[in-house]
Amino acid sequence: MDELGVDVLLLSVGADLPYFTGYTAMPLERLTMLVLPRDGEATLVVPALEAPRVEERPEAFTARPWAETEDPVAIVAALAGAGSAPRAAIGDRTWATFLLGLQEALPQTAFLPASRVTAPLRAVKDAAEIDALRAAARVVDAVALAMRERPFAGRTEADIARELVDRMLEGGHERANFAIVASGPNAASPHHEPGDRVVAAGDPVVCDFGGTMAGYCSDITRTFVVGQPSGELADIYEVLFRAQEEAVRTARVGVSCEAVDAAARTVIGAAGYGDYFIHRTGHGIGLEEHEDPYLVSGNATPLAAGHAFSVEPGIYLPGRCGARIEDIVVATEHGPERLNEAPRELAVVG
Ligand code: ZN
Ligand code: ZN
Ligand code: ZN
Repeated sequence: MDELGVDVLLLSVGADLPYFTGYTAMPLERLTMLVLPRDGEATLVVPALEAPRVEERPEAFTARPWAETEDPVAIVAALAGAGSAPRAAIGDRTWATFLLGLQEALPQTAFLPASRVTAPLRAVKDAAEIDALRAAARVVDAVALAMRERPFAGRTEADIARELVDRMLEGGHERANFAIVASGPNAASPHHEPGDRVVAAGDPVVCDFGGTMAGYCSDITRTFVVGQPSGELADIYEVLFRAQEEAVRTARVGVSCEAVDAAARTVIGAAGYGDYFIHRTGHGIGLEEHEDPYLVSGNATPLAAGHAFSVEPGIYLPGRCGARIEDIVVATEHGPERLNEAPRELAVVG
Protein backbone atom coordinates (compact mmCIF):
# COMPACT_ATOMS: atom_id res chain seq x y z
CA MET A 1 0.00 0.00 0.00
CA ASP A 2 2.87 2.28 0.85
CA GLU A 3 4.58 1.64 -2.50
CA LEU A 4 1.37 2.40 -4.38
CA GLY A 5 0.44 5.42 -2.28
CA VAL A 6 -2.75 3.72 -1.08
CA ASP A 7 -4.18 5.10 2.17
CA VAL A 8 -6.96 2.61 2.64
CA LEU A 9 -7.89 -0.82 1.29
CA LEU A 10 -11.62 -1.59 0.96
CA LEU A 11 -12.52 -5.28 0.42
CA SER A 12 -16.00 -6.66 -0.12
CA VAL A 13 -17.24 -9.71 -2.06
CA GLY A 14 -14.61 -11.76 -3.91
CA ALA A 15 -11.56 -13.76 -2.88
CA ASP A 16 -9.42 -10.94 -1.45
CA LEU A 17 -11.47 -10.73 1.76
CA PRO A 18 -11.26 -14.46 2.66
CA TYR A 19 -7.59 -14.50 1.63
CA PHE A 20 -6.75 -11.91 4.29
CA THR A 21 -9.40 -12.57 6.96
CA GLY A 22 -10.81 -16.08 6.45
CA TYR A 23 -14.28 -14.53 6.10
CA THR A 24 -16.29 -14.75 2.87
CA ALA A 25 -18.87 -12.01 2.30
CA MET A 26 -22.25 -13.00 0.93
CA PRO A 27 -23.05 -11.26 -2.34
CA LEU A 28 -25.92 -9.22 -0.95
CA GLU A 29 -27.50 -5.80 -1.28
CA ARG A 30 -26.37 -5.39 2.33
CA LEU A 31 -22.76 -4.17 2.34
CA THR A 32 -19.91 -6.15 3.90
CA MET A 33 -16.58 -4.32 3.70
CA LEU A 34 -13.19 -4.61 5.35
CA VAL A 35 -11.69 -1.16 5.88
CA LEU A 36 -7.92 -1.42 6.24
CA PRO A 37 -6.13 1.93 6.61
CA ARG A 38 -2.43 1.89 5.80
CA ASP A 39 -1.72 3.25 9.25
CA GLY A 40 -4.31 1.90 11.62
CA GLU A 41 -6.53 -0.98 12.64
CA ALA A 42 -8.72 -2.98 10.26
CA THR A 43 -12.49 -2.98 10.71
CA LEU A 44 -14.94 -5.41 9.16
CA VAL A 45 -18.20 -3.57 8.51
CA VAL A 46 -20.77 -6.36 8.34
CA PRO A 47 -24.58 -6.60 8.39
CA ALA A 48 -25.72 -7.41 11.94
CA LEU A 49 -27.54 -10.51 10.75
CA GLU A 50 -24.30 -11.82 9.16
CA ALA A 51 -22.17 -11.03 12.23
CA PRO A 52 -22.71 -14.45 13.87
CA ARG A 53 -20.86 -16.01 10.92
CA VAL A 54 -17.79 -13.86 11.53
CA GLU A 55 -15.04 -15.71 13.31
CA GLU A 56 -13.45 -13.17 15.62
CA ARG A 57 -9.78 -12.51 14.96
CA PRO A 58 -8.92 -9.55 17.15
CA GLU A 59 -5.29 -9.65 16.03
CA ALA A 60 -6.47 -9.05 12.46
CA PHE A 61 -9.64 -6.95 12.58
CA THR A 62 -12.51 -5.65 14.68
CA ALA A 63 -16.06 -6.40 13.56
CA ARG A 64 -18.46 -3.45 13.25
CA PRO A 65 -21.94 -4.92 12.77
CA TRP A 66 -24.44 -2.46 11.32
CA ALA A 67 -28.16 -2.52 12.08
CA GLU A 68 -30.83 -2.56 9.37
CA THR A 69 -31.53 1.17 9.67
CA GLU A 70 -27.91 2.33 9.63
CA ASP A 71 -26.12 3.50 6.48
CA PRO A 72 -23.14 1.16 5.90
CA VAL A 73 -21.66 3.39 3.19
CA ALA A 74 -21.48 6.27 5.68
CA ILE A 75 -19.83 3.97 8.24
CA VAL A 76 -17.21 2.85 5.71
CA ALA A 77 -16.62 6.44 4.56
CA ALA A 78 -16.02 7.57 8.14
CA LEU A 79 -13.62 4.71 8.83
CA ALA A 80 -11.82 5.36 5.54
CA GLY A 81 -11.04 8.90 6.63
CA ALA A 82 -13.77 11.09 5.17
CA GLY A 83 -12.56 14.70 5.00
CA SER A 84 -8.93 13.73 4.46
CA ALA A 85 -9.24 12.75 0.77
CA PRO A 86 -7.69 9.30 1.14
CA ARG A 87 -6.49 7.33 -1.90
CA ALA A 88 -8.54 4.14 -1.77
CA ALA A 89 -7.99 0.72 -3.32
CA ILE A 90 -11.35 -1.03 -3.62
CA GLY A 91 -11.96 -4.74 -4.27
CA ASP A 92 -12.38 -5.46 -7.99
CA ARG A 93 -15.57 -7.49 -7.45
CA THR A 94 -17.27 -4.87 -5.26
CA TRP A 95 -20.78 -4.11 -6.48
CA ALA A 96 -20.94 -0.89 -8.52
CA THR A 97 -23.77 0.40 -6.36
CA PHE A 98 -21.46 0.51 -3.31
CA LEU A 99 -18.60 2.13 -5.19
CA LEU A 100 -21.01 4.77 -6.53
CA GLY A 101 -22.20 5.43 -2.96
CA LEU A 102 -18.64 5.71 -1.70
CA GLN A 103 -17.69 8.06 -4.54
CA GLU A 104 -20.53 10.32 -3.45
CA ALA A 105 -19.58 10.08 0.24
CA LEU A 106 -15.86 10.66 -0.49
CA PRO A 107 -15.88 13.16 -3.37
CA GLN A 108 -12.15 13.96 -3.03
CA THR A 109 -11.07 10.33 -3.07
CA ALA A 110 -9.32 8.64 -5.98
CA PHE A 111 -10.24 4.96 -6.30
CA LEU A 112 -8.05 2.29 -7.81
CA PRO A 113 -8.59 -1.48 -8.09
CA ALA A 114 -7.50 -3.39 -4.99
CA SER A 115 -5.95 -6.03 -7.23
CA ARG A 116 -2.98 -3.67 -7.73
CA VAL A 117 -2.24 -4.36 -4.06
CA THR A 118 -3.61 -7.86 -3.61
CA ALA A 119 -3.02 -9.73 -6.90
CA PRO A 120 0.79 -9.96 -6.64
CA LEU A 121 0.43 -11.22 -3.04
CA ARG A 122 -2.23 -13.79 -3.90
CA ALA A 123 -0.36 -14.98 -7.02
CA VAL A 124 2.54 -16.37 -4.98
CA LYS A 125 1.32 -19.48 -3.18
CA ASP A 126 2.81 -20.71 0.07
CA ALA A 127 3.36 -24.41 0.81
CA ALA A 128 -0.08 -24.92 2.34
CA GLU A 129 -1.76 -23.34 -0.68
CA ILE A 130 0.24 -25.51 -3.08
CA ASP A 131 -0.77 -28.57 -1.05
CA ALA A 132 -4.40 -27.51 -1.39
CA LEU A 133 -4.02 -27.02 -5.15
CA ARG A 134 -2.30 -30.40 -5.42
CA ALA A 135 -5.06 -32.15 -3.47
CA ALA A 136 -7.69 -30.59 -5.74
CA ALA A 137 -5.64 -31.59 -8.81
CA ARG A 138 -5.50 -35.21 -7.60
CA VAL A 139 -9.29 -35.36 -7.63
CA VAL A 140 -9.70 -34.18 -11.23
CA ASP A 141 -6.76 -36.36 -12.27
CA ALA A 142 -8.67 -39.38 -10.94
CA VAL A 143 -11.79 -38.25 -12.82
CA ALA A 144 -9.84 -37.81 -16.07
CA LEU A 145 -8.28 -41.24 -15.62
CA ALA A 146 -11.62 -42.93 -14.91
CA MET A 147 -13.18 -41.34 -18.00
CA ARG A 148 -10.68 -43.16 -20.23
CA GLU A 149 -12.53 -46.38 -19.38
CA ARG A 150 -16.02 -44.94 -19.83
CA PRO A 151 -18.26 -45.11 -22.92
CA PHE A 152 -18.78 -41.81 -24.75
CA ALA A 153 -20.59 -42.85 -27.96
CA GLY A 154 -24.38 -42.50 -27.87
CA ARG A 155 -24.36 -40.14 -24.89
CA THR A 156 -25.14 -36.45 -24.96
CA GLU A 157 -22.52 -33.89 -24.00
CA ALA A 158 -24.76 -32.82 -21.11
CA ASP A 159 -24.88 -36.39 -19.80
CA ILE A 160 -21.09 -36.68 -19.83
CA ALA A 161 -20.80 -33.25 -18.17
CA ARG A 162 -23.12 -34.43 -15.39
CA GLU A 163 -20.89 -37.45 -14.83
CA LEU A 164 -17.84 -35.19 -14.56
CA VAL A 165 -19.63 -33.05 -11.96
CA ASP A 166 -20.78 -36.10 -9.97
CA ARG A 167 -17.30 -37.58 -9.97
CA MET A 168 -15.71 -34.32 -8.81
CA LEU A 169 -18.15 -34.13 -5.90
CA GLU A 170 -17.68 -37.82 -5.04
CA GLY A 171 -13.93 -37.20 -5.12
CA GLY A 172 -14.24 -34.60 -2.37
CA HIS A 173 -14.74 -31.31 -4.16
CA GLU A 174 -17.21 -29.15 -2.26
CA ARG A 175 -18.26 -27.50 -5.50
CA ALA A 176 -17.99 -28.21 -9.21
CA ASN A 177 -17.32 -24.89 -10.92
CA PHE A 178 -17.69 -25.96 -14.55
CA ALA A 179 -17.66 -28.96 -16.87
CA ILE A 180 -17.15 -28.24 -20.55
CA VAL A 181 -17.83 -31.22 -22.84
CA ALA A 182 -17.35 -30.24 -26.49
CA SER A 183 -17.77 -32.99 -29.08
CA GLY A 184 -17.23 -33.24 -32.83
CA PRO A 185 -17.30 -29.80 -34.46
CA ASN A 186 -18.22 -28.29 -31.05
CA ALA A 187 -14.66 -29.10 -29.98
CA ALA A 188 -13.62 -26.05 -32.01
CA SER A 189 -15.37 -23.80 -29.44
CA PRO A 190 -13.10 -23.46 -26.38
CA HIS A 191 -15.92 -22.57 -23.91
CA HIS A 192 -18.67 -24.68 -25.49
CA GLU A 193 -21.78 -25.12 -23.33
CA PRO A 194 -22.49 -28.90 -23.22
CA GLY A 195 -25.80 -29.59 -24.86
CA ASP A 196 -27.90 -32.36 -26.38
CA ARG A 197 -25.49 -33.25 -29.17
CA VAL A 198 -25.02 -37.03 -29.16
CA VAL A 199 -21.39 -38.16 -29.32
CA ALA A 200 -20.64 -40.39 -32.32
CA ALA A 201 -17.81 -42.54 -33.67
CA GLY A 202 -14.77 -40.53 -34.75
CA ASP A 203 -15.67 -37.51 -32.60
CA PRO A 204 -13.05 -35.69 -30.59
CA VAL A 205 -14.44 -34.80 -27.15
CA VAL A 206 -12.75 -31.99 -25.23
CA CYS A 207 -13.47 -32.25 -21.49
CA ASP A 208 -12.42 -29.23 -19.40
CA PHE A 209 -13.57 -29.33 -15.80
CA GLY A 210 -12.78 -28.09 -12.34
CA GLY A 211 -14.12 -27.30 -8.94
CA THR A 212 -13.20 -26.13 -5.47
CA MET A 213 -11.81 -28.12 -2.55
CA ALA A 214 -10.86 -26.54 0.79
CA GLY A 215 -11.23 -23.18 -0.94
CA TYR A 216 -8.74 -23.89 -3.75
CA CYS A 217 -9.57 -24.60 -7.38
CA SER A 218 -8.85 -27.41 -9.80
CA ASP A 219 -8.87 -27.10 -13.60
CA ILE A 220 -7.90 -29.78 -16.12
CA THR A 221 -8.52 -30.46 -19.80
CA ARG A 222 -8.16 -33.80 -21.53
CA THR A 223 -9.21 -34.66 -25.08
CA PHE A 224 -10.85 -37.98 -25.91
CA VAL A 225 -11.69 -39.56 -29.25
CA VAL A 226 -14.34 -42.15 -29.97
CA GLY A 227 -12.55 -44.92 -31.86
CA GLN A 228 -9.70 -44.11 -34.21
CA PRO A 229 -8.96 -40.39 -34.71
CA SER A 230 -9.14 -38.83 -38.17
CA GLY A 231 -5.78 -37.99 -39.75
CA GLU A 232 -6.47 -34.32 -39.12
CA LEU A 233 -7.19 -34.82 -35.41
CA ALA A 234 -4.15 -37.06 -34.96
CA ASP A 235 -2.09 -34.40 -36.70
CA ILE A 236 -3.21 -31.42 -34.57
CA TYR A 237 -2.96 -33.50 -31.40
CA GLU A 238 0.64 -34.42 -32.03
CA VAL A 239 1.47 -30.71 -32.48
CA LEU A 240 -0.56 -29.71 -29.44
CA PHE A 241 1.13 -32.30 -27.24
CA ARG A 242 4.56 -30.95 -28.14
CA ALA A 243 3.38 -27.34 -27.66
CA GLN A 244 2.06 -28.07 -24.17
CA GLU A 245 5.26 -29.92 -23.20
CA GLU A 246 7.40 -27.09 -24.48
CA ALA A 247 5.40 -24.42 -22.63
CA VAL A 248 5.56 -26.36 -19.36
CA ARG A 249 9.31 -26.86 -19.78
CA THR A 250 9.74 -23.12 -20.38
CA ALA A 251 7.88 -22.13 -17.19
CA ARG A 252 10.92 -21.65 -14.97
CA VAL A 253 11.39 -19.03 -12.27
CA GLY A 254 12.53 -15.75 -13.86
CA VAL A 255 11.08 -16.50 -17.31
CA SER A 256 8.39 -14.01 -18.33
CA CYS A 257 4.74 -15.03 -18.55
CA GLU A 258 4.67 -14.03 -22.21
CA ALA A 259 7.67 -16.24 -22.98
CA VAL A 260 5.71 -19.28 -21.79
CA ASP A 261 2.85 -18.25 -24.07
CA ALA A 262 5.30 -17.77 -26.94
CA ALA A 263 6.79 -21.23 -26.36
CA ALA A 264 3.44 -22.91 -27.03
CA ARG A 265 2.60 -20.53 -29.87
CA THR A 266 5.91 -21.10 -31.64
CA VAL A 267 5.38 -24.88 -31.86
CA ILE A 268 1.79 -24.49 -33.07
CA GLY A 269 2.72 -21.74 -35.49
CA ALA A 270 5.59 -23.73 -36.99
CA ALA A 271 3.15 -26.54 -37.78
CA GLY A 272 0.90 -24.08 -39.62
CA TYR A 273 -1.89 -23.90 -37.02
CA GLY A 274 -1.00 -20.52 -35.51
CA ASP A 275 -4.31 -18.93 -36.57
CA TYR A 276 -6.22 -21.71 -34.80
CA PHE A 277 -4.76 -21.18 -31.31
CA ILE A 278 -7.18 -18.40 -30.38
CA HIS A 279 -6.62 -17.82 -26.67
CA ARG A 280 -3.82 -17.15 -24.19
CA THR A 281 -1.77 -20.10 -22.96
CA GLY A 282 -2.84 -19.95 -19.33
CA HIS A 283 -4.09 -18.24 -16.20
CA GLY A 284 -3.15 -18.21 -12.55
CA ILE A 285 -5.26 -20.30 -10.19
CA GLY A 286 -5.87 -20.31 -6.46
CA LEU A 287 -8.93 -19.21 -4.52
CA GLU A 288 -10.25 -18.17 -7.92
CA GLU A 289 -10.36 -20.25 -11.09
CA HIS A 290 -8.75 -17.40 -13.03
CA GLU A 291 -6.38 -14.96 -11.33
CA ASP A 292 -2.87 -13.56 -11.80
CA PRO A 293 -0.49 -14.38 -13.38
CA TYR A 294 -1.86 -14.59 -16.93
CA LEU A 295 0.34 -16.30 -19.52
CA VAL A 296 -0.33 -13.98 -22.40
CA SER A 297 1.61 -11.90 -24.89
CA GLY A 298 2.21 -8.48 -23.31
CA ASN A 299 2.65 -9.78 -19.77
CA ALA A 300 6.36 -9.34 -19.05
CA THR A 301 5.98 -10.31 -15.37
CA PRO A 302 8.70 -12.84 -14.52
CA LEU A 303 7.53 -16.10 -12.98
CA ALA A 304 8.34 -16.36 -9.28
CA ALA A 305 8.61 -19.44 -7.08
CA GLY A 306 5.08 -20.21 -5.92
CA HIS A 307 3.28 -18.92 -8.99
CA ALA A 308 0.56 -21.47 -9.88
CA PHE A 309 -1.04 -21.36 -13.32
CA SER A 310 -2.58 -23.39 -16.10
CA VAL A 311 -0.74 -24.32 -19.28
CA GLU A 312 -3.52 -24.99 -21.78
CA PRO A 313 -2.82 -24.51 -25.45
CA GLY A 314 -5.52 -25.58 -27.91
CA ILE A 315 -6.02 -25.92 -31.65
CA TYR A 316 -9.52 -25.23 -32.99
CA LEU A 317 -10.53 -25.87 -36.61
CA PRO A 318 -13.94 -24.19 -37.05
CA GLY A 319 -16.71 -26.52 -38.18
CA ARG A 320 -14.40 -29.55 -38.00
CA CYS A 321 -12.68 -30.41 -34.72
CA GLY A 322 -10.48 -29.18 -31.93
CA ALA A 323 -8.32 -30.26 -29.01
CA ARG A 324 -6.84 -28.83 -25.82
CA ILE A 325 -4.49 -30.11 -23.11
CA GLU A 326 -4.43 -28.37 -19.74
CA ASP A 327 -2.40 -28.92 -16.59
CA ILE A 328 -1.87 -26.78 -13.51
CA VAL A 329 1.83 -26.04 -13.05
CA VAL A 330 3.75 -24.45 -10.17
CA ALA A 331 7.01 -22.58 -10.74
CA THR A 332 9.56 -23.74 -8.18
CA GLU A 333 13.26 -23.19 -7.56
CA HIS A 334 13.80 -26.71 -8.94
CA GLY A 335 11.88 -25.98 -12.13
CA PRO A 336 8.28 -26.27 -13.23
CA GLU A 337 6.18 -28.83 -11.34
CA ARG A 338 2.98 -30.17 -12.86
CA LEU A 339 0.22 -30.72 -10.31
CA ASN A 340 -1.83 -32.76 -12.82
CA GLU A 341 -0.50 -36.19 -13.68
CA ALA A 342 -3.37 -37.88 -15.53
CA PRO A 343 -2.16 -39.21 -18.90
CA ARG A 344 -2.35 -36.49 -21.51
CA GLU A 345 -2.12 -38.64 -24.63
CA LEU A 346 -5.25 -38.58 -26.81
CA ALA A 347 -7.57 -41.04 -25.03
CA VAL A 348 -9.29 -43.52 -27.32
CA VAL A 349 -12.71 -44.38 -25.86
CA GLY A 350 -15.75 -46.35 -26.94
ZN1 ZN B 1 -11.16 -21.43 -20.34
ZN1 ZN C 1 -9.86 -25.51 -17.88
ZN1 ZN D 1 -7.99 -23.17 -17.31
